[in-house]
Amino acid sequence: MTQQFDGNAAFLNNGNDLIVVLGHGQLARMMYLGASQLGLNIIAVDAAKDPAQRACVNPVCKSILNVSVEQAFEHCVAITSEFEHLPKDLVAQAESTGKFKPNAKAIAAGADRIVEKQLLESLNIPNCAHQIVRSVEDLKSAYQTLGPKLILKTSRDGYDGYGQWRMFNQAEFKQVCGELETFDFEHMPLVAEQCVQFEREISLLGVTDSQGNHQYYPLTENHHGAGQLVLSLAPAPNVTAELQEKAQAIHQKMATELNYTGVLAVELFQIGDELLVNEIAPRVHNSGHWTQQGAAASQFENHIRAVAGLPLGDTQAQHLVAMVNYVGEAKPSSDLLALKNTHLHWYDKEVRAKRKMGHINLVANSESELQALIDQVHKLLPESLANNLAKIKQ
Ligand code: ATP
Ligand code: MG
Repeated sequence: MTQQFDGNAAFLNNGNDLIVVLGHGQLARMMYLGASQLGLNIIAVDAAKDPAQRACVNPVCKSILNVSVEQAFEHCVAITSEFEHLPKDLVAQAESTGKFKPNAKAIAAGADRIVEKQLLESLNIPNCAHQIVRSVEDLKSAYQTLGPKLILKTSRDGYDGYGQWRMFNQAEFKQVCGELETFDFEHMPLVAEQCVQFEREISLLGVTDSQGNHQYYPLTENHHGAGQLVLSLAPAPNVTAELQEKAQAIHQKMATELNYTGVLAVELFQIGDELLVNEIAPRVHNSGHWTQQGAAASQFENHIRAVAGLPLGDTQAQHLVAMVNYVGEAKPSSDLLALKNTHLHWYDKEVRAKRKMGHINLVANSESELQALIDQVHKLLPESLANNLAKIKQ
């Protein structure tokens, strides 16, 4: 059980500007770490569906604070969020204060794949060929047009590969059609996407300040296993200035359309010189965790600077970083910490299968140095994580 204590003095009245983060997971915690060095306070909100269950919490130890969500909203200089799958009434409440950054429109675009696709189409931004699926009949027609390899995704509440069906042949397609006979399409429309044979996955994290100035981190190369991010390499190798600029132009179009403030992540598929947008995340993002050691100002610090109306920090890479996600396993032994240039970020969560427990940033100044460090860390990882990494290296 979390302990209750009077957080008013600590969180509302110590003279520091307060920022409220909707959500109380590791991203809120790392935003706190970025904010505290700037002398700013953060309150996290347990954004439960049931308003009666919502509470203000300490972003690090998660103790419940004796502060209501309304009080926190009133006293803060800005409200932001660590994830997009938020109850609509809470988003509306935040928006009504005039302090919510980015804003309800951006959250909706990240939370609902149909809204997201409409945004991409309206801006003429290349994305995966897709069709909205509101019945098994629609799925059959999508299969005719986009098949034989399809990925079907729920329009809402999907993350880390949850809420997806993959169909790579006729038999798998038939099986999914059978599974969906009783599916409530009215409650949850789906999006069918053509399965893209991309060369690699990259992402662009950019940050927009309250005056509309944009800054971008270098592109990051991302490797997934079972729909979940396993490894990011930053700056992504073999990126031409043209490719970086192309990604930035896409990002800027979206940030401008969404009247955005803060960090916006854009996930991309690269095919030659072409970039297709997979999806966007209106927040700090797992593929930007490398910035904690690799850039002068991390994505967390820059997001907080932006929403607090402060000037942005430098987004240039200072080192090469490999970010390894630590998923579903207990805290690693201190042997890992003994490795030079290895930085553990632990989230203090209960261990569960597939749960992101922490990440490790490996820092180097050349590709060969980085590869040597990855190899050393590899040997110290639990079997499940080592296997995931091994699959990538093949
Ligand atoms: P996350 O929370 O990790 O970003 P998600 O659940 O929001 O994941 P997506 O990003 O849409 O889902 O998909 C997860 C991964 O599945 C992608 O990073 C990519 O590896 C693969 N994937 C998704 N869509 C496609 C597609 N159309 N073609 C090929 N691969 C795809
Ligand atoms: Mg994704």
